[in-house]
Amino acid sequence: MKDIFCRIIDGEIPSQRVYEDDDVIAILDISQTTTGHTLVIPKKHYESFLTCPAETVNKVMMIAQRIGQAEISILGAKGVNILTNCGEAAGQSVPHFHVHVIPRYVGGEGGFRIEMQSQDTSKLNLPMIAKEIADALKD
Ligand code: 5GP
Repeated sequence: MKDIFCRIIDGEIPSQRVYEDDDVIAILDISQTTTGHTLVIPKKHYESFLTCPAETVNKVMMIAQRIGQAEISILGAKGVNILTNCGEAAGQSVPHFHVHVIPRYVGGEGGFRIEMQSQDTSKLNLPMIAKEIADALKD
């Protein structure tokens, strides 16, 4: 069964489109976390950022950058969050790669705050973890 973004791309479900080319669309997120919250989505289906070819990631990110710039210059945002959730454990609810571009305003709209909580790193073997990731990048 098609995911919701494939159905939007195919015109089966309406959306507020802010950008479209051969490879990418950008639409307003139905939830509008803040006013102007936009999703940038490759037309070809990839489950997440992690499984999307780099060339397509580049196209999506270039459009996300332009939309972020427009949110500041046109909507009056003072900052922008650009994020992508990969996997259910990370909060991904639609299994089709997409990047959120969320304008942030000073005062007024609350939006959200990403809390990065520290854990007790004394229990972690940080050199070993760093080596495991570094070794994986060599393959
Ligand atoms: P995720 O949770 O996967 O990172 O983000 C999925 C996003 O898609 C959510 O912010 C949600 O509001 C949005 N969304 C889900 N269904 C629709 C829809 O039918 N139309 C639009 N425009 N956005 C949707």
